[in-house]
Amino acid sequence: MKTSLRTHTCGELNAQHINEKVTLCGWIQKIRKLGGMTFIDLRDRYGITQLAFNNDTDPDLCKQIERFGREWVITVSGTVTERYSKNKNIPTGDIEILVSEIEVLNESLVPPFTIEDDSDGGDELRMKYRYLDLRRNVVKNNLLFRHQLGIAIRNYMNHIGFVEIETPFLVNSTPEGARDFVVPSRLNHGEFYALPQSPQTFKQLLMAAGFDRYFQIVKCFRDEDLRSDRQPEFTQIDCEMSFISQEDILNTFEGLIKYIFQTTKNIEITDIERITYADAMKFYGSDKPDARFDMRFVELNNVLQHKEFKVFNDAELVVGIVAKGCADYSRKQLDELTNFVKRPQVGATGLVYVQCQADGHFKSSVDKFYEQADLQVVAKQCDAKEGDLILIMAGKKEKAQKQLCELRLEMGNRLGLRKAGEYKILWVIDFPLLEWDDETERFYAKHHPFTAPKPEHEAILESDPAAVNANAYDLVINGTEIGGGSIRIHNKELQKRMFKVLGFSDEEAQKQFGFLMNAFQYGAPPHGGIAFGFDRMCSVLCNSDSIRDFIAFPKNNAARDMMLNAPTRISDLQLKELGLPLNEN
Ligand code: ASP
Repeated sequence: MKTSLRTHTCGELNAQHINEKVTLCGWIQKIRKLGGMTFIDLRDRYGITQLAFNNDTDPDLCKQIERFGREWVITVSGTVTERYSKNKNIPTGDIEILVSEIEVLNESLVPPFTIEDDSDGGDELRMKYRYLDLRRNVVKNNLLFRHQLGIAIRNYMNHIGFVEIETPFLVNSTPEGARDFVVPSRLNHGEFYALPQSPQTFKQLLMAAGFDRYFQIVKCFRDEDLRSDRQPEFTQIDCEMSFISQEDILNTFEGLIKYIFQTTKNIEITDIERITYADAMKFYGSDKPDARFDMRFVELNNVLQHKEFKVFNDAELVVGIVAKGCADYSRKQLDELTNFVKRPQVGATGLVYVQCQADGHFKSSVDKFYEQADLQVVAKQCDAKEGDLILIMAGKKEKAQKQLCELRLEMGNRLGLRKAGEYKILWVIDFPLLEWDDETERFYAKHHPFTAPKPEHEAILESDPAAVNANAYDLVINGTEIGGGSIRIHNKELQKRMFKVLGFSDEEAQKQFGFLMNAFQYGAPPHGGIAFGFDRMCSVLCNSDSIRDFIAFPKNNAARDMMLNAPTRISDLQLKELGLPLNEN
């Protein structure tokens, strides 16, 4: 990486360069004095090179560097020499530069936190000085990984005939989905653009236009309520294809996923299993199961609802999991589990356990209500062996499933079954088309209103909406949803019916989505697609819980940019031009 200011980077010199005259530029990572020598670790994006200054032979230089501090930017010239004590941990560890000339390019204030792999800075501080945080290896490497992943995706998609097309950021606000970020229009007072939550309708229009295979690595904007590790702006790998079945989409993107793992992680993915939404809920209590470990749910209504235990008798679902080898859990450990499920985040009222002891005896928290013979039937149904612990929850079906899912994941953690670096990839298929909301008393699209019902369910769309499934699918890696998509509606009449089921009047539907339904009248091909979360994909591939670590300039949990201090008020002049009410004070 020779430039006019340097001959080499700080990451490339080694024993082969000994005796060469070189010039390097970089930041001071560390200054150390050792006897008659002073050493500086000089850092740039590529690595660290040790600079050596000899007090006896070069008193002037040594005097000059006395005032230097961390993060100063300097350029040095000197001779590559063999190091006396080598550092096997870094590629430049065999050599150092015996410096003959030095120049300060820029001084630095003392940084507010250490620029080390383990920094002493808290989250907010590091976000405020994100450009310093980005100098740290860990964060820098995340962004380099993101770049590699982007390149791999573009290569693959290009190779299989997908065209990257940009779609607009200033679009219409729509009522479905999350809340929109809106932008007031100066030229049309009282009117607003919205920033797109996804390019969904545009990619469908590109199919109507005949592009056949589209993709885009694209920013999306959702003004959602704060949850940790969500970002108001995030990046999707957005894709759409024409003249395809669900099978074509699953196969195409299995190819992409395998390619990504191979090129960025050197991991060969052989199988990507498929599970229906119904089974995912039944066996894991989640539409994004972590299938790195088994511990499947077992329904126990039939064996536990015939006795005097009211909690179980009143429950819609009684369901258990088996924690292998945990029968000897102490009172304290069992209490911990009970407390875990009682936390507000899980929200259960209690937990029932059955310890299948080594002597064949069953010890349970409901011994009052059940005989040994009953518990034996439970153990048999769960396929629990001596030494195993059965954990049981009960209640309204969906609630009990969700709560047991949390407990299953907790047990997975406790037993070390959720191994970092091990990847279990699943397609969850056959999602329901619609979802009933008790609060607003209406159906919502489970995925979005453009998803088609399965052709064999079209006839019951109005008569039994809850029973309609869709060719909609999610890709799940280790319990994290990485992507989702569907086969779309491409026919105006069906789209109109769908909007009606969602409670839109014909007029509203026409006003909001007339452009799309019109396009369907001009020869729209059958089509479908998928979008993957790019930030999330980075974090999952790198075993990180945080998407923030993979975004150069992320926002905090209050959706603020700590560095810019955005959002901010704007001036009265700007407000006036936009036709908006002026600031209050
Ligand atoms: N637009 C959808 C989303 O953002 C993905 C898709 O259906 O392709 O979730």
